[in-house]
Amino acid sequence: MAGNITFTMIKPDAVGNGYTGKIINDFIEGGFSIRAMKYIHLTKDQAGAFYAVHKERPFYNDLVEFMTSGPIVAAVLEKDNAVTDFRTLIGATNPAEAAEGTIRNKYAKSIDANAVHGSDSDENAQIEASFFFSAIERF
Ligand code: GDP
Repeated sequence: MAGNITFTMIKPDAVGNGYTGKIINDFIEGGFSIRAMKYIHLTKDQAGAFYAVHKERPFYNDLVEFMTSGPIVAAVLEKDNAVTDFRTLIGATNPAEAAEGTIRNKYAKSIDANAVHGSDSDENAQIEASFFFSAIERF
């Protein structure tokens, strides 16, 4: 059965460009409710650990560099079928391929600076949410 939780980050490009409020509004209008949220500037160690699954990918160092270039907003969101519906809301990884009206289509410029993160499975949603939030912070 599909889970009802996903994890997201509003990435440094979107925070720096002043899109935080608009993007949070899109989450809510997309039917998601906020279960936890924090504003944080990741260290290289933290970003490297979060993206450890991508360690062998050629863009890993650039990704860690980018994700530590400014503050982010991390959040746990709730909705039925959360992971799939959220990936539909944000659009394709490459904003050039993201469908009209999706968050990446509206607010992202490139595949590396693509405005938002969304978990790719229920299992990873739990792992990623636990990376940023303790049980007591997730009501
Ligand atoms: P996602 O699940 O849609 O975020 O995509 P992936 O899990 O495939 O990649 C994780 C993140 O790595 C993406 O959101 C991008 O920020 C970044 N990324 C993916 N492909 C590239 C690339 O070719 N170059 C760079 N610089 N970053 C990339």
